Amino acid sequence: MVSAAINEPLKYLTAYPQPLQDKVAQLIGKGELGSWLRHKYQDLHDIRTDKALFDYVSELKSEFLRKADPLNKVAFDSKLQVIAHALGTHTAISRVQGNKLKAKREIRIASLFKDVPLAFLNMIAVHELAHIKEKAHDKAFYQLCTYMAPDYHQLEFDVRLYLTHIDHIGPLQWRVASPSGNQI
Ligand SMILES: [Zn+2]
Repeated sequence: MVSAAINEPLKYLTAYPQPLQDKVAQLIGKGELGSWLRHKYQDLHDIRTDKALFDYVSELKSEFLRKADPLNKVAFDSKLQVIAHALGTHTAISRVQGNKLKAKREIRIASLFKDVPLAFLNMIAVHELAHIKEKAHDKAFYQLCTYMAPDYHQLEFDVRLYLTHIDHIGPLQWRVASPSGNQI
């Protein structure tokens, strides 16, 4: 049973089983989704600038995709958050330089990831890095994601839960004190 408070489909969760979507709708209806997320993810991050983001993503790349082409640019993008299916983008623009074909690789991550748990930033970074090697969202792509983040599927689901929260309730104040009084 879907809670009366949610009359529209949960657009970020359409790929998941209906009973799971119903459970999320119930959590939202009871006003508990936010505290559930904050309780589960208490490890935040301080990556706010494009430079810090570049360093973070580059570190992941050198750990897992050392042989792939170097990244030219990694940046937060405030325009990406309004697009439901593009929270990050990866582009490779090929240019002729002298007699060589050079690929300029760029990763952009929605600005909303500036203020989320570290695990959520990790999820989107892993997702965009995997696109360096795999274009489509196919089996090989997700294998690469779980190679870089073993709990990738759970993380993507939880990020989608948070997007659902933003959609129906608004952004979460991740850093405010939890009901128990602990700073999280
Ligand atoms: Zn993708």
